[in-house]
Amino acid sequence: MDISALLATAKCRSTPVRVELIRLLSSAHRRYTVTELIGVLRAHKSTLHKTTLYRELSLLSTLGWVEAGVNHDGEQVWEWSMGGEHHHHAVCTNCHTALSVSVSEGFVAEVEKSLKKQGFVLRQHVLEFLGMCKKCAKI
Ligand SMILES: [Zn+2]
Ligand SMILES: [Zn+2]
Ligand SMILES: [Zn+2]
Repeated sequence: MDISALLATAKCRSTPVRVELIRLLSSAHRRYTVTELIGVLRAHKSTLHKTTLYRELSLLSTLGWVEAGVNHDGEQVWEWSMGGEHHHHAVCTNCHTALSVSVSEGFVAEVEKSLKKQGFVLRQHVLEFLGMCKKCAKI
């Protein structure tokens, strides 16, 4: 993927942090907490501040390139979502890679309907499956 060209299409500047962030997010199917992102990105650039990262993530989110979610610990997580559909995850608790899990839309709609009936104002849902990936299960 030519990240600079991609950013040019979106009329965004190619800053080193932005390019590095996109490269990291798009290179694997996994979700990152802000702490994890800072940890990896600081290894390349020592001056990355949390506020800068939040600003970058919010920009990418506006572009529809990343999606924010919440993991099982209630922490905010970010995932590369360009061209991807809404899906759920089976997360390896050892290496954090994720498998896509498709949950029937009927099931989600049914839960939402029932919650609405009870006056519950739904903001988002978290549905995650935890375990070990094939690789880690063998160790
Ligand atoms: Zn969902
Ligand atoms: Zn694993
Ligand atoms: Zn995913």
